[in-house]
Amino acid sequence: MNSWIPVGAAASTAPTLDPPVLTDTSPDSFSQAFISEDGVPNNRARVLGGGTAINVGFYSRAQPLFIRQLGLDEALVEDSYKWVERKLVYRPNLLQWQSAVRNGLPEAGVLPYNGFTYHHINGTKIGGTILDRNGYRHTAADLLEYADPKRIKVYVHAVVNKIMFTAQDGSKPKAQGVIFYDARGERHTVLLKNGWRSEIILAAAAIGSPQLLLLSGIGPTSQLEPLGIEVVRNKTMVGQGMGDPPSNGLVIPSPLPIELALATTVGITKFGSYIESACGYDFTALYGSASQTRTLPKNVTASFTKVYGNKDFGQ
Ligand SMILES: Cc1cc2nc3c(=O)[nH]c(=O)nc-3n(C[C@H](O)[C@H](O)[C@H](O)COP(=O)(O)OP(=O)(O)OC[C@H]3O[C@@H](n4cnc5c(N)ncnc54)[C@H](O)[C@@H]3O)c2cc1C
Repeated sequence: MNSWIPVGAAASTAPTLDPPVLTDTSPDSFSQAFISEDGVPNNRARVLGGGTAINVGFYSRAQPLFIRQLGLDEALVEDSYKWVERKLVYRPNLLQWQSAVRNGLPEAGVLPYNGFTYHHINGTKIGGTILDRNGYRHTAADLLEYADPKRIKVYVHAVVNKIMFTAQDGSKPKAQGVIFYDARGERHTVLLKNGWRSEIILAAAAIGSPQLLLLSGIGPTSQLEPLGIEVVRNKTMVGQGMGDPPSNGLVIPSPLPIELALATTVGITKFGSYIESACGYDFTALYGSASQTRTLPKNVTASFTKVYGNKDFGQ
């Protein structure tokens, strides 16, 4: 399992996340905070654009080996990358902290230095970002610009509750429609048109997709029957095998204001762990209380004091 090691530098006059998306637990928040069964705090998006509307915005292509192992058409994947990159991805502007991380990781042995690249390769690199030069976030919803407005309808505030399947007599089930609820709680049914180009694509993410399959009767009989869900197909692995990739956070309080930046410089180690760095936020909102995040080792405080004079560095 890969581990993810975010490194953060918080400014002493750190701005709070505005809007505080990940910590906003109000019913209207487009991020839903939850704690996994392993006790790991997490968030999932409930908004058009999905995770790209709440995530750290770092963009990278997958490792070619991963694409091959999935058995995907490599040429089509390559075209798809370019299709997405044209609308969403930018080269980040590196300021002080991100530049320091770019210089520091190779010094710490995360080699080679690969410069700016979308490719997933071992070493230190500057990746793409979905935040443009003005700090404006571009999300997967921007890809709708490719669509023909006359031939597409997008429903927002529409929560799908069930996929309806034909053939419950042992033959291969075929999705034929969905049931969804609108913002007023009204129930709607949408059915496929006849024809091979009419299809249902399930893309409700790692938790939502198996959840919808289970609600629709595709999953382990032993779980569905006690809940009164009619079994369409006994699929024992649906909803199983989810895991949390472990991550460790290191928060460094900065005595001086520091640029606001999400992950742009990353280290991909040969051990399979990733190092990312964000800066300029008040990370206490995400990572815990001030006492946990402001205590500096004596030697670090001594170095800061040498450079910046005798200030309160949270020791
Ligand atoms: C805090 C955070 C930071 C991250 N940072 C990065 C990063 O920097 N770089 C990176 O590459 N990845 C990052 N990720 C991961 C990345 O965002 C996700 O892997 C990616 O968005 C998953 O895409 P998806 O299309 O599978 O699902 P999603 O983007 O989650 O899309 C699923 C969509 O389905 C909708 N949905 C779910 N259930 C239903 C339902 N029943 N009815 C109707 N709609 C439904 C949701 O509202 C959502 O819009 C981060 C994730 C988080 C949470």
